[in-house]
Amino acid sequence: MPITISYTAPKLRYYTVAGDTLKAIEAFMKRKGPVDPNEGKRMVAMTYTGQGIVPKWTHGRSDLHRAPNGEVTCSVKVKDMKFVARAVILLPKLGSNKLSPAARKEWDRFFRKLKAHELKHIAVYRGFMHTVLDEIGRLEGSALAKTEAAAEKAARADLELAIRLNYAGGKLDKRIRQMHHQFDKRTRHGQRSGAKLNTKIP
Ligand SMILES: [Zn+2]
Repeated sequence: MPITISYTAPKLRYYTVAGDTLKAIEAFMKRKGPVDPNEGKRMVAMTYTGQGIVPKWTHGRSDLHRAPNGEVTCSVKVKDMKFVARAVILLPKLGSNKLSPAARKEWDRFFRKLKAHELKHIAVYRGFMHTVLDEIGRLEGSALAKTEAAAEKAARADLELAIRLNYAGGKLDKRIRQMHHQFDKRTRHGQRSGAKLNTKIP
């Protein structure tokens, strides 16, 4: 039962940072950087991910049972469902500045590490979405009715309800936010792997 997701290449967006020293640039990013929805704090960079289900999806019967009294029990699972996902990464970009060559080198190093961290968010997101697709593939809707067609129709409605209860109303988005949050806690927003500006460099 193919439940698939297609990812568009992440879009890179930039905000320009001002300052003639690394210290000044760091202060600028703390004032003007994007706000992390998980922590309500300003960050130096952010990755935004989102996804949607293509509305037309199909189901397939996973079980059909007729009782001696003629009533039919039908179970259905998702057969074909398509997700589309997108991601935007917002990164800082140097504006015109008077950074020393050593400071400039440090900025470039920091930027590479930061970008790697943000790209990792997308990799983690994709892994997470695979889990979600597996979950949806295991969901089953069931119903009992007098005819096969009526039982199948009601089973489909039951499956739709299960999907809504588990993922709609912001539930999936909330899990995704938590997933990004956990990743940031583990990596300290990439600082553990070097996404931290050494402002001591003059
Ligand atoms: Zn992060």
